[in-house]
Amino acid sequence: MKIADVRTHVLEHRLDRAFQSASMRFDRRQHCLVEIVCEDGTTGWGECLGPALPNAAVVRAYAQALIGRNPLETEKIWLELYNLLRDQGQRGLTVTALSGIDIALWDIKGKRFGVPISLLLGGRFRESVRAYATGSFRLEGVDRVESVAREVAGYREEGFHAVKIKIGFGVEEDLKVIEAVRAAIGPDMRLMIDANHGYDVLEAVELGRRAAPYGIDWFEEPVLPEQLDAYRAVRAGQPIPVAGGETWHGRYGMAEPIASRAVDIVQPDICGTGGFTEMRRIADLAAMHGVRLVPHVWGTAVQIAASLQFMAALAPNPPRPEPMEPILEFDRTENPFRQAVVKTPLEHENGVVRIPDGPGLGIEIERATLAQFALKEA
Ligand SMILES: [Mg+2]
Repeated sequence: MKIADVRTHVLEHRLDRAFQSASMRFDRRQHCLVEIVCEDGTTGWGECLGPALPNAAVVRAYAQALIGRNPLETEKIWLELYNLLRDQGQRGLTVTALSGIDIALWDIKGKRFGVPISLLLGGRFRESVRAYATGSFRLEGVDRVESVAREVAGYREEGFHAVKIKIGFGVEEDLKVIEAVRAAIGPDMRLMIDANHGYDVLEAVELGRRAAPYGIDWFEEPVLPEQLDAYRAVRAGQPIPVAGGETWHGRYGMAEPIASRAVDIVQPDICGTGGFTEMRRIADLAAMHGVRLVPHVWGTAVQIAASLQFMAALAPNPPRPEPMEPILEFDRTENPFRQAVVKTPLEHENGVVRIPDGPGLGIEIERATLAQFALKEA
């Protein structure tokens, strides 16, 4: 079995209405899929987290080293590609691009043996996971308190057991939104807040202290991801568990925040932190230090499928009979190709998502969607 071709697919949809997190404005959805084709026709799919065109360029830079290789050699290939750009890389695009390649190789491996990736990872601890809704970005020209309260009430009606809302727009505005959200979802639904590193330590500590009475499961990315001391200060200064890690790539990026307990919950993204190969090492690191792992997910059904395979095989820690389940991040913002890239959408039912058990990622790509949303370069 040999790799014959490596292709990238950059998909784009221009949003009718732009939305904002505390650190970014989105006026389009763009995602980069990776397709690896073998000489015998077996095809594997992966996805890269982050800016699609730069990711596609780095995947192409790696591609030459992949042609003619045995796709089952995932560990060897991972180390070789990482080493190829190590001196200028170590994190960021060199690792997000490598993630998409690694996921595609594991998809091929699963198809080669006719089993889901979760079985190759050691077995399935669960057949489904509960999902939480991610939404509530800031929309231009809208009363935020009212619109977010309406939005989260909709998630409750859909059957979601948990919701994560965006904050980081100012302590007073954020507290008004949190209060309205808790009133809209009632006392039992779980609520998380994500500042997308929009605060400094003093603001984050004040927000955390005043938001805690509303019952918050975690406070995500309170401060800049480079500032681990600031993370530790936020953790010490307010009572809500601190989460983060979607921008810490690879085991070297994860080691210090985990070992120094900069976070209570670490959130590696399988499409950003190095694919299945590196995700396993990060899961071991987190388990060794007793840090909970809840994956970050922000992409198409390819990314969701990869996260589901990983979550199926994620060992409960501690291994009690009814373990604390990992929960799946489920992006609810506008993206018409998110689920349309696969023939069978990975939808939730009453807030629960079934984990596919077909070979590899357990999905089939809908090529008509790739053609429909292919980026038309200016
Ligand atoms: Mg986040």
